[in-house]
Amino acid sequence: MPARLNVVLLSHTPDPERTVAAAGRLCYSSSTAASLKESMSADEVERLLKILIGSGHLSTLEHASFTFGIDGISRACSHQLVRHRLASYSQQSQRYVRFSDDEGFIIPPRVAENEKALAVFKEAMAGAMRAYERLVELGAGQGLGKEAVQEDARFVLPNAAETRIVVTMNARELRHFFQVRCCRRAQWEINRLAWWMRSLVLEAAPLLFRKAGPDCLFRRCREGKMYCGEEYTQEEVDKMEKYWETSLSGSREDL
Ligand SMILES: Cc1cc2nc3c(=O)[nH]c(=O)nc-3n(C[C@H](O)[C@H](O)[C@H](O)COP(=O)(O)OP(=O)(O)OC[C@H]3O[C@@H](n4cnc5c(N)ncnc54)[C@H](O)[C@@H]3O)c2cc1C
Repeated sequence: MPARLNVVLLSHTPDPERTVAAAGRLCYSSSTAASLKESMSADEVERLLKILIGSGHLSTLEHASFTFGIDGISRACSHQLVRHRLASYSQQSQRYVRFSDDEGFIIPPRVAENEKALAVFKEAMAGAMRAYERLVELGAGQGLGKEAVQEDARFVLPNAAETRIVVTMNARELRHFFQVRCCRRAQWEINRLAWWMRSLVLEAAPLLFRKAGPDCLFRRCREGKMYCGEEYTQEEVDKMEKYWETSLSGSREDL
């Protein structure tokens, strides 16, 4: 069974919406945060969150964090992901974990759809895998330890090599992440990842992620000359959220 992109919301701040609302309310109240958190009605929480987000009082959103387990992305994608600095990451090590058939290579869909391109791709990956295995063998033959062998052998692994990562972002950073990575200008892989993460947090805390996403869904696109000309429609977004298990789940084939 080939591995695919899989994103799981591992955990999040308990009562994330109420926690953020209490933090926002505290700024203008003589009560304690604890009593505000308890006493606010659901309507009040909703109203306050709309005001906080609408007015750009976004530091309050930093009190709610969300942790994701992500499997089946390429190293190319994880490199783009970790450029987002206001987050915490733990990534599977290529030094301590031997790269094997349990992992694999992420195949870009456009390559997968083109028979000739796919053949070139598979040949390159198989070559990289052979070189990797041979370097591990040679290192072990020299009497080097597992870590030393793997940390050198991994240099021949390509950007397509699959990786796993745990990511924690607060709601403010997530809203920013969704704005730039759910945009069509982002590469297909991180774009899929971002839409999947968005669907998970929308389920967990819909009020915190109201109108979070690419500009074209909610406001004017800011891409200027780089405007893609293909604005997302709400219908397309609704459809995408139902298709994670199938066509949008990323692609990986065993070689
Ligand atoms: C379509 C697309 C194409 C890209 N192409 C390239 C490319 O060709 N080359 C390349 O190198 N990168 C590229 N990137 C990555 C991009 O430049 C950012 O590194 C990445 O999107 C992380 O976003 P960020 O810097 O806004 O914010 P994050 O690190 O997520 O931080 C969030 C926000 O916090 C604030 N912030 C964070 N750190 C600082 C700081 N040190 N000082 C001041 N404010 C801060 C900023 O307001 C920032 O927007 C691309 C990204 C996209 C979406």
